[in-house]
Amino acid sequence: MIKMNYGDVKHQKKLEGTFVALLDNADERQKKWVKLRKQLYQLKNEFKKLLPTQLHKLMTLPYTGLAEIYDTYVALRLDEKDRLHLALKELFSYTKDKGGRFNALSDSIIDFFKDKNNGFEIHTCYYCNMTYINYFQYEEVKKNGRKTGKRTQFDLDHVLDKGRCPLVALSLYNLVPACPTCNGPHIKGKRVMNVTLNQRQKLSPTSNLYDFDNQIKIWLRPKTEKIPNTDFLKHLDDYELDFDTLSDADYDKEINFLYLSNSSLKIRHA
Ligand SMILES: [Zn+2]
Repeated sequence: MIKMNYGDVKHQKKLEGTFVALLDNADERQKKWVKLRKQLYQLKNEFKKLLPTQLHKLMTLPYTGLAEIYDTYVALRLDEKDRLHLALKELFSYTKDKGGRFNALSDSIIDFFKDKNNGFEIHTCYYCNMTYINYFQYEEVKKNGRKTGKRTQFDLDHVLDKGRCPLVALSLYNLVPACPTCNGPHIKGKRVMNVTLNQRQKLSPTSNLYDFDNQIKIWLRPKTEKIPNTDFLKHLDDYELDFDTLSDADYDKEINFLYLSNSSLKIRHA
């Protein structure tokens, strides 16, 4: 797992400004946010402390704050068809449901991560660090002609599931470029770790508290003595991947959650 790099403080501020500017219809959305926020206050007083009054602040809230909002919102156990829940889904429109009032932002957010000026160097998946990610052109045939565009092999994963908690759908620090395998239903999909709030606030590549690189040692060991050292990828079964999490066992939760430990290496490559 790789920690997200947002550059130095100055660059990060600039990034946040660029990200916030992706929000279209900002005035109308803000008005809606004022109304919906009040409804959330009525359901749970704690939201007064957690939710920024400005929508753009929520879009750039540090991950630790998002994790707290997520846990508090999910604990409300709102029905999927609850009116407030649906209204929040419409406001925080990452992808668009039919008839939604606001544009979906998924395309512009993906472009934001691809834009070289923003300085993300996305080469491998931030979760598994195994899958190489690159861009390719595609041509799509539409009914009324051809359309070309760019498509990437990376998906943007919402660390905290936007379906369960729409409040975190458009937040910069909830987004992690991931390979389709990790983002897919067999590995992460819509799953969210079952952990305490303190653990949740730490266990994301987007968190200030994330320190996987310094806390965890990774061992790749041959299982037998006679191993051809030429083509590692063809001989995966001859190796085992081990994580030493002695210095912070919380990371075990993440390793198991993403099926990165030895026993699951085969599943990922099957
Ligand atoms: Zn991956």
